[in-house]
Amino acid sequence: MRSRVLALAATLLLSTPLQAATHKALIIDGENPYHAWKENTQVLKKLLEDTKIFTVDVATTPPKGSDMSGFKPDFAAYSVVVLNYNGDAWPAETNTAFEKYVRDGGGVVVYHASSSAFPEWKEFNQIIGVGGWGNRNASSGKSARWRDGKISLDTPERNCGNHGQRLPFLVTVRDSKNPITKGLPSTWMHAGDELYDTLCGPAENLDVLATAHSDSANKGSGQEEPMLMTVKFGKGRVFHTTLGHDVAAMSCVGFITTFDRGAEWAATGKVTQKVPADFPGADKPSLRP
Ligand code: ZN
Repeated sequence: MRSRVLALAATLLLSTPLQAATHKALIIDGENPYHAWKENTQVLKKLLEDTKIFTVDVATTPPKGSDMSGFKPDFAAYSVVVLNYNGDAWPAETNTAFEKYVRDGGGVVVYHASSSAFPEWKEFNQIIGVGGWGNRNASSGKSARWRDGKISLDTPERNCGNHGQRLPFLVTVRDSKNPITKGLPSTWMHAGDELYDTLCGPAENLDVLATAHSDSANKGSGQEEPMLMTVKFGKGRVFHTTLGHDVAAMSCVGFITTFDRGAEWAATGKVTQKVPADFPGADKPSLRP
Protein backbone atom coordinates (compact mmCIF):
# COMPACT_ATOMS: atom_id res chain seq x y z
CA MET A 1 0.00 0.00 0.00
CA ARG A 2 2.74 2.37 0.99
CA SER A 3 4.59 1.69 -2.30
CA ARG A 4 1.41 2.43 -4.30
CA VAL A 5 1.01 5.74 -2.46
CA LEU A 6 4.61 6.57 -3.16
CA ALA A 7 4.19 5.65 -6.82
CA LEU A 8 1.10 7.87 -7.05
CA ALA A 9 2.98 10.73 -5.40
CA ALA A 10 5.83 10.28 -7.86
CA THR A 11 3.39 10.33 -10.80
CA LEU A 12 1.80 13.53 -9.54
CA LEU A 13 5.22 15.10 -9.10
CA LEU A 14 6.27 14.16 -12.63
CA SER A 15 3.05 15.45 -14.17
CA THR A 16 3.51 18.91 -12.64
CA PRO A 17 4.43 21.29 -15.48
CA LEU A 18 8.12 22.12 -15.29
CA GLN A 19 7.53 25.57 -16.78
CA ALA A 20 5.31 27.00 -14.07
CA ALA A 21 4.84 30.77 -14.41
CA THR A 22 7.55 31.87 -12.06
CA HIS A 23 8.37 35.42 -13.06
CA LYS A 24 6.28 38.45 -12.29
CA ALA A 25 6.02 41.15 -14.93
CA LEU A 26 4.58 44.64 -14.49
CA ILE A 27 3.35 46.63 -17.48
CA ILE A 28 3.15 50.37 -16.91
CA ASP A 29 0.76 52.43 -19.03
CA GLY A 30 -1.68 55.30 -18.68
CA GLU A 31 -0.62 57.83 -21.33
CA ASN A 32 0.85 57.47 -24.79
CA PRO A 33 -0.17 60.05 -27.38
CA TYR A 34 -0.72 58.80 -30.99
CA HIS A 35 -0.92 55.21 -29.72
CA ALA A 36 -3.81 52.90 -28.79
CA TRP A 37 -2.00 52.14 -25.55
CA LYS A 38 -4.87 50.30 -23.83
CA GLU A 39 -5.15 47.92 -26.78
CA ASN A 40 -1.35 47.55 -27.01
CA THR A 41 -1.10 46.73 -23.29
CA GLN A 42 -3.64 43.91 -23.74
CA VAL A 43 -1.49 42.47 -26.54
CA LEU A 44 1.74 42.77 -24.51
CA LYS A 45 0.05 41.13 -21.52
CA LYS A 46 -1.23 38.22 -23.59
CA LEU A 47 2.15 37.71 -25.28
CA LEU A 48 3.89 37.48 -21.90
CA GLU A 49 1.24 35.16 -20.44
CA ASP A 50 1.38 32.91 -23.52
CA THR A 51 5.04 32.15 -22.71
CA LYS A 52 3.78 30.40 -19.52
CA ILE A 53 6.75 31.81 -17.66
CA PHE A 54 5.23 35.16 -16.63
CA THR A 55 2.34 36.33 -14.59
CA VAL A 56 1.45 39.89 -15.49
CA ASP A 57 0.12 42.90 -13.58
CA VAL A 58 -0.68 46.27 -15.11
CA ALA A 59 -0.12 49.59 -13.34
CA THR A 60 -2.02 52.44 -15.01
CA THR A 61 -1.16 56.00 -14.06
CA PRO A 62 -3.87 58.57 -13.38
CA PRO A 63 -5.02 60.38 -16.56
CA LYS A 64 -3.00 63.21 -18.09
CA GLY A 65 -2.94 66.35 -15.98
CA SER A 66 -4.25 64.76 -12.79
CA ASP A 67 -2.56 64.21 -9.43
CA MET A 68 0.24 61.67 -9.89
CA SER A 69 1.39 61.66 -6.25
CA GLY A 70 -0.27 58.31 -5.48
CA PHE A 71 1.46 56.48 -8.34
CA LYS A 72 3.97 54.28 -6.50
CA PRO A 73 4.28 50.80 -8.04
CA ASP A 74 6.18 48.26 -5.96
CA PHE A 75 8.89 47.73 -8.59
CA ALA A 76 10.92 45.44 -6.35
CA ALA A 77 8.11 42.86 -6.38
CA TYR A 78 8.73 42.20 -10.12
CA SER A 79 11.36 40.50 -12.25
CA VAL A 80 10.67 42.78 -15.18
CA VAL A 81 8.96 46.12 -15.73
CA VAL A 82 7.59 46.70 -19.25
CA LEU A 83 7.22 50.36 -20.15
CA ASN A 84 4.29 51.27 -22.38
CA TYR A 85 4.15 54.86 -21.12
CA ASN A 86 4.85 58.31 -22.47
CA GLY A 87 3.26 60.99 -20.34
CA ASP A 88 3.36 63.19 -17.27
CA ALA A 89 6.27 62.98 -14.85
CA TRP A 90 6.00 60.50 -12.00
CA PRO A 91 6.53 61.66 -8.42
CA ALA A 92 10.23 62.12 -7.55
CA GLU A 93 9.91 59.27 -5.04
CA THR A 94 8.74 56.90 -7.79
CA ASN A 95 11.59 57.95 -10.08
CA THR A 96 14.09 57.22 -7.30
CA ALA A 97 12.47 53.84 -6.62
CA PHE A 98 12.61 52.95 -10.33
CA GLU A 99 16.31 53.90 -10.58
CA LYS A 100 17.08 51.83 -7.47
CA TYR A 101 15.09 48.87 -8.85
CA VAL A 102 17.14 48.84 -12.05
CA ARG A 103 20.47 49.58 -10.36
CA ASP A 104 19.90 46.67 -7.96
CA GLY A 105 19.41 44.22 -10.82
CA GLY A 106 15.82 44.68 -11.99
CA GLY A 107 14.78 43.98 -15.58
CA VAL A 108 13.21 46.54 -17.90
CA VAL A 109 11.66 46.34 -21.35
CA VAL A 110 11.51 49.67 -23.16
CA TYR A 111 8.71 49.15 -25.67
CA HIS A 112 8.28 51.38 -28.76
CA ALA A 113 7.11 54.93 -27.87
CA SER A 114 8.11 54.65 -24.21
CA SER A 115 11.53 55.80 -25.47
CA SER A 116 9.82 59.18 -25.98
CA ALA A 117 9.08 59.54 -22.26
CA PHE A 118 10.80 61.76 -19.71
CA PRO A 119 13.29 63.72 -21.87
CA GLU A 120 14.47 65.66 -18.79
CA TRP A 121 15.07 62.67 -16.49
CA LYS A 122 18.80 61.94 -16.71
CA GLU A 123 18.80 58.41 -15.28
CA PHE A 124 15.80 57.40 -17.37
CA ASN A 125 17.73 58.38 -20.49
CA GLN A 126 20.69 56.32 -19.28
CA ILE A 127 18.34 53.37 -18.76
CA ILE A 128 16.78 53.55 -22.24
CA GLY A 129 20.12 54.36 -23.91
CA VAL A 130 18.60 56.43 -26.69
CA GLY A 131 15.22 58.09 -27.10
CA GLY A 132 13.31 60.40 -29.41
CA TRP A 133 10.85 63.29 -29.61
CA GLY A 134 10.04 65.40 -26.54
CA ASN A 135 12.33 68.14 -27.92
CA ARG A 136 15.30 65.78 -27.84
CA ASN A 137 18.09 67.15 -30.02
CA ALA A 138 21.88 67.19 -30.34
CA SER A 139 22.13 68.44 -26.76
CA SER A 140 20.43 65.19 -25.58
CA GLY A 141 23.32 63.02 -26.75
CA LYS A 142 24.48 60.97 -29.69
CA SER A 143 22.56 58.91 -32.22
CA ALA A 144 23.59 55.27 -32.15
CA ARG A 145 23.85 53.97 -35.72
CA TRP A 146 25.48 50.90 -37.21
CA ARG A 147 28.39 51.50 -39.55
CA ASP A 148 31.43 49.46 -40.64
CA GLY A 149 30.44 46.52 -38.46
CA LYS A 150 30.11 48.47 -35.23
CA ILE A 151 28.12 51.07 -33.33
CA SER A 152 28.78 54.61 -34.51
CA LEU A 153 27.82 57.43 -32.16
CA ASP A 154 26.81 60.22 -34.52
CA THR A 155 25.94 63.80 -33.82
CA PRO A 156 22.25 63.89 -34.80
CA GLU A 157 21.70 65.85 -38.04
CA ARG A 158 18.04 66.49 -37.22
CA ASN A 159 15.74 66.51 -34.21
CA CYS A 160 15.94 63.17 -32.45
CA GLY A 161 13.07 60.81 -33.19
CA ASN A 162 11.53 60.41 -36.62
CA HIS A 163 9.80 57.83 -38.78
CA GLY A 164 8.29 57.56 -42.25
CA GLN A 165 5.21 55.70 -43.50
CA ARG A 166 4.54 52.32 -41.94
CA LEU A 167 5.95 49.81 -44.42
CA PRO A 168 7.38 46.31 -43.98
CA PHE A 169 11.17 46.42 -43.55
CA LEU A 170 14.12 44.08 -43.24
CA VAL A 171 15.69 43.65 -39.80
CA THR A 172 19.34 42.57 -39.65
CA VAL A 173 20.76 40.84 -36.58
CA ARG A 174 24.08 42.41 -35.53
CA ASP A 175 24.74 40.48 -32.34
CA SER A 176 23.74 36.83 -32.50
CA LYS A 177 25.57 35.95 -29.27
CA ASN A 178 23.02 37.62 -27.04
CA PRO A 179 20.43 35.03 -25.87
CA ILE A 180 17.60 37.22 -27.25
CA THR A 181 18.83 37.03 -30.86
CA LYS A 182 20.72 33.74 -30.67
CA GLY A 183 19.40 31.32 -33.31
CA LEU A 184 17.34 33.92 -35.22
CA PRO A 185 17.84 34.20 -38.99
CA SER A 186 20.44 36.86 -39.81
CA THR A 187 17.77 38.92 -41.59
CA TRP A 188 13.99 38.84 -41.37
CA MET A 189 11.10 40.84 -42.77
CA HIS A 190 9.15 42.80 -40.18
CA ALA A 191 5.48 43.70 -40.73
CA GLY A 192 4.51 47.29 -41.61
CA ASP A 193 5.68 49.43 -38.70
CA GLU A 194 7.23 52.74 -37.79
CA LEU A 195 10.96 52.55 -38.41
CA TYR A 196 12.41 54.90 -35.81
CA ASP A 197 15.46 56.89 -36.78
CA THR A 198 17.85 59.30 -35.11
CA LEU A 199 17.08 58.25 -31.55
CA CYS A 200 19.66 59.90 -29.35
CA GLY A 201 20.84 59.91 -25.77
CA PRO A 202 23.74 58.99 -23.52
CA ALA A 203 24.05 55.60 -25.32
CA GLU A 204 26.20 54.22 -22.47
CA ASN A 205 26.69 50.47 -21.96
CA LEU A 206 24.60 49.96 -25.08
CA ASP A 207 24.63 46.88 -27.26
CA VAL A 208 22.86 46.92 -30.61
CA LEU A 209 21.29 43.53 -31.32
CA ALA A 210 19.51 44.33 -34.60
CA THR A 211 19.22 47.21 -37.05
CA ALA A 212 17.21 48.30 -40.08
CA HIS A 213 17.98 50.64 -42.95
CA SER A 214 16.07 53.90 -42.65
CA ASP A 215 15.23 54.75 -46.25
CA SER A 216 15.65 58.41 -47.14
CA ALA A 217 12.93 57.88 -49.81
CA ASN A 218 10.53 57.26 -46.87
CA LYS A 219 11.61 60.38 -44.91
CA GLY A 220 14.28 58.30 -43.17
CA SER A 221 17.84 59.15 -42.16
CA GLY A 222 19.54 57.01 -44.81
CA GLN A 223 21.35 55.31 -41.92
CA GLU A 224 21.35 51.81 -40.41
CA GLU A 225 19.29 52.43 -37.26
CA PRO A 226 19.07 50.32 -34.10
CA MET A 227 15.81 48.38 -33.72
CA LEU A 228 16.66 46.06 -30.80
CA MET A 229 19.13 47.04 -28.09
CA THR A 230 20.26 46.13 -24.62
CA VAL A 231 21.55 48.48 -21.94
CA LYS A 232 23.32 47.73 -18.67
CA PHE A 233 22.43 50.10 -15.84
CA GLY A 234 24.04 49.14 -12.55
CA LYS A 235 23.22 45.45 -12.14
CA GLY A 236 20.03 45.86 -14.18
CA ARG A 237 19.32 44.50 -17.63
CA VAL A 238 17.35 46.60 -20.11
CA PHE A 239 15.90 45.34 -23.39
CA HIS A 240 14.85 48.13 -25.73
CA THR A 241 12.63 47.37 -28.74
CA THR A 242 11.66 50.22 -31.03
CA LEU A 243 9.11 47.97 -32.78
CA GLY A 244 5.37 47.48 -32.33
CA HIS A 245 3.45 50.70 -33.09
CA ASP A 246 0.06 49.02 -33.27
CA VAL A 247 -1.70 45.66 -33.10
CA ALA A 248 -0.91 44.99 -36.79
CA ALA A 249 2.83 45.49 -36.22
CA MET A 250 2.64 43.48 -32.98
CA SER A 251 1.16 40.51 -34.84
CA CYS A 252 4.55 39.99 -36.55
CA VAL A 253 6.20 36.83 -35.26
CA GLY A 254 9.51 38.71 -35.33
CA PHE A 255 8.09 41.27 -32.88
CA ILE A 256 6.43 38.62 -30.70
CA THR A 257 9.53 36.43 -30.45
CA THR A 258 12.00 39.22 -29.72
CA PHE A 259 9.64 40.88 -27.23
CA ASP A 260 9.03 37.64 -25.29
CA ARG A 261 12.69 36.66 -25.36
CA GLY A 262 13.77 40.18 -24.44
CA ALA A 263 11.43 40.18 -21.45
CA GLU A 264 12.79 36.83 -20.25
CA TRP A 265 16.39 37.99 -20.70
CA ALA A 266 15.67 41.23 -18.82
CA ALA A 267 14.07 39.22 -16.01
CA THR A 268 16.64 36.44 -15.72
CA GLY A 269 19.67 37.01 -17.98
CA LYS A 270 18.75 33.85 -19.89
CA VAL A 271 16.35 32.79 -22.63
CA THR A 272 14.63 29.39 -22.52
CA GLN A 273 12.17 30.08 -25.38
CA LYS A 274 12.93 28.41 -28.69
CA VAL A 275 12.71 30.23 -32.02
CA PRO A 276 9.22 29.37 -33.37
CA ALA A 277 8.80 27.53 -36.66
CA ASP A 278 6.81 30.44 -38.12
CA PHE A 279 9.58 32.99 -37.51
CA PRO A 280 9.86 35.16 -40.67
CA GLY A 281 12.59 34.86 -43.25
CA ALA A 282 13.95 37.65 -45.42
CA ASP A 283 11.26 37.46 -48.12
CA LYS A 284 7.99 38.30 -46.36
CA PRO A 285 6.51 39.02 -42.92
CA SER A 286 5.01 36.21 -40.86
CA LEU A 287 1.88 37.21 -38.96
CA ARG A 288 -0.24 35.66 -36.23
CA PRO A 289 -3.89 36.63 -35.76
ZN1 ZN B 1 4.30 54.52 -32.80
